[in-house]
Amino acid sequence: MAELNQIIGALRLMAETIEKNKEHLTELDGAIGDGDHGINMSRGFAFVKETLDKGGFQNAGDLFKKCGMALVAHVGGASGPLYGTAFLRAAMVLKDREDVHAADYVQILKDAAEGIKMRGKSDRGEKTMLDALIPAYEAAADAVQQGKSAQEILNAAKVAAAEGAVGTEKLVAQKGRASYLGERSIGHQDPGAASAALVLAAVADYFAA
Ligand code: ADP
Ligand code: MG
Ligand code: MG
Repeated sequence: MAELNQIIGALRLMAETIEKNKEHLTELDGAIGDGDHGINMSRGFAFVKETLDKGGFQNAGDLFKKCGMALVAHVGGASGPLYGTAFLRAAMVLKDREDVHAADYVQILKDAAEGIKMRGKSDRGEKTMLDALIPAYEAAADAVQQGKSAQEILNAAKVAAAEGAVGTEKLVAQKGRASYLGERSIGHQDPGAASAALVLAAVADYFAA
């Protein structure tokens, strides 16, 4: 399905997408958090871009490991270690692998969500990035079950993540800074769910182009 240079391309589009949506993510976080999610993400993905520019990747696993370490080191706030964990889980799925297949994508989404749950002591329904990521995993797994094409699988994840992010508006935040607001967090979209949806959209859009 995807070779190393294509994965690099998808990660570049991810970084660009985050940069383009920096203000939007910061506004979302301004409403229910401390207004830095766009800044945190754009800083982290700038270092991902730097990592991609450096190159010298042995394989897809090595690529995700280096990007994950860049995110852990440079994204401030709660989201840094969580996104870093997601990338490091992807690195484990792709250990010693040259290319990525649709089934790997599903496994990456699953393991990334598991890693975030563990690290964040969180689960779906708590108004976090997991409310985009878990529906994306489920939609991608369904698409694989139904024998859909690789592009349809990526698109299914993109759509489910976007719907999941919008769906966080009606949830009460139970993790992170937004949880301090309790019921007052209702009516606002979770910034981390919004950024997770953007990240998955970038992957689908890269391969659709
Ligand atoms: P901070 O809250 O430290 O300022 P960010 O603003 O960058 O960090 O990230 C906030 C996002 O991180 C939230 O919108 C939410 O999606 C996610 N998040 C926070 N805590 C958790 C957690 N325990 N589990 C999963 N996601 C979390
Ligand atoms: Mg914040
Ligand atoms: Mg912060």
